Amino acid sequence: MAKTKFILDEERIPRHWYNIAADLPSPVPPPLHPGTGEPIGPDMLEPLFPMALIGQEVSAEREIEIPEPVRAVYRQWRPTPLFRAHRLEQHLQTPARIYYKYEGVSPTGSHKPNTAVAQAFYNKEAGVRRLTTETGAGQWGSSLAYAAAHFGLDVDVYMVRVSYDQKPYRRALMETFGARCVASPSDETESGRAILAKTPDSTGSLGIAISEAVEKAAQADDTKYALGSVLNHVLTHQTVIGLEALEQLEQLDAYPDVLVGCTGGGSNFAGLVLPFIGAQLRGGPSPRVVAVEPAACPSLTRGKYAYDFGDTGHLTPLVKMHTLGSTFVPPGFHAGGLRYHGMAPLVSHLQALDLLEAVAYKQLEVFAAGVEFARVEGILPAPEATHAVKGAIDEAIKARESGERRTILFNLCGHGHFDMQAYTDYFAGKLKDQTYDESELAMALAGLPSVQAAE
Ligand SMILES: *Cc1c(COP(=O)(O)O)cnc(C)c1O
Repeated sequence: MAKTKFILDEERIPRHWYNIAADLPSPVPPPLHPGTGEPIGPDMLEPLFPMALIGQEVSAEREIEIPEPVRAVYRQWRPTPLFRAHRLEQHLQTPARIYYKYEGVSPTGSHKPNTAVAQAFYNKEAGVRRLTTETGAGQWGSSLAYAAAHFGLDVDVYMVRVSYDQKPYRRALMETFGARCVASPSDETESGRAILAKTPDSTGSLGIAISEAVEKAAQADDTKYALGSVLNHVLTHQTVIGLEALEQLEQLDAYPDVLVGCTGGGSNFAGLVLPFIGAQLRGGPSPRVVAVEPAACPSLTRGKYAYDFGDTGHLTPLVKMHTLGSTFVPPGFHAGGLRYHGMAPLVSHLQALDLLEAVAYKQLEVFAAGVEFARVEGILPAPEATHAVKGAIDEAIKARESGERRTILFNLCGHGHFDMQAYTDYFAGKLKDQTYDESELAMALAGLPSVQAAE
């Protein structure tokens, strides 16, 4: 089936990122100053991000040119392959056609370098010397470390404690690329020390690690902060995934009826689906769009759509998003990249506009899907990606039941080669379906900031 596999061809690397702000029927609600409740200006973000990225955050231009030095780095692995899952289709006895875009071919094994390279480039251009960031499973930290090495920047990574302990190889990868890696909560920051004083054995969370990284960046002139998901500019950088997929499918004379992606902060999902939703908003076909999240951290299916802080220490502006509350600490399940209390404001807005559906799955059923997929397709998905795999399999089973020949496209956002302990635990029967504490969720939601000016 040579036709369905694409080899590296630099002409096929997009020249622009797609910015959906140009096509939305109503704008994403703006971030607010926590003190005044008024929309924040670029000056409040300036200590944290270079102006080029702040400009992209608020841009309404449909196409944002990808700088040539960024494209030059993308060439190392882009365009990524689009595979037809023939063997999975046969195995499921489904009339559906299943395609997947495989982002695991990047140097760090996931979609994250798509934005890491861009962010490192713009920071270098702005004269920044050091970046701080948070990481969950270590995918983002290793991707930013990789990108920073390309452009000669230093990186400090605050890594969520539970992953720091569970995933030592990701840390080794970050250190190989030259980054410094610190378990979070740490005693290097006020935010970290405050958590440790209350909960000395805290497993950490992305919300806590973000506070630490933001605090450090705000304190030094030559240091800025990089976020691996959630923000508009990050989602925009990830659209190379969907733009390539559109073109690859066009060559096969195919168009998806259903799009599926997993959602932590929403970036790989958005990267795949935004170009298709944009085409729909401009009068094109309207595929169903399914976001798959973990039942143990269900921001889209169980969260509230409200203004909240992006971090636990309340150092960020307020953003309107589906949130479980910034003090919510999800249980320590294995898809570390999906353990964030909120969802990207842009993805939250699309759900409010009825442009997507959300489902939540439990840990054991997604690992079962990941193993099933690996056995027929020969690629071992990251624990996060198994959520998308399970979503696609369920869509294919529905197609079998209804006899419809629909076309399914999902994002296989990363491989799981650094997550073998999770698979080992799964086979040993040690993995559990983690649930969060309902009263803790209720408390975290009750503690949402009240916003007078904007609503
Ligand atoms: C980080 C990560 C995620 C979650 O982040 P999103 O912004 O929701 O994409 C999902 N999958 C993989 C492989 C990751 O590394």
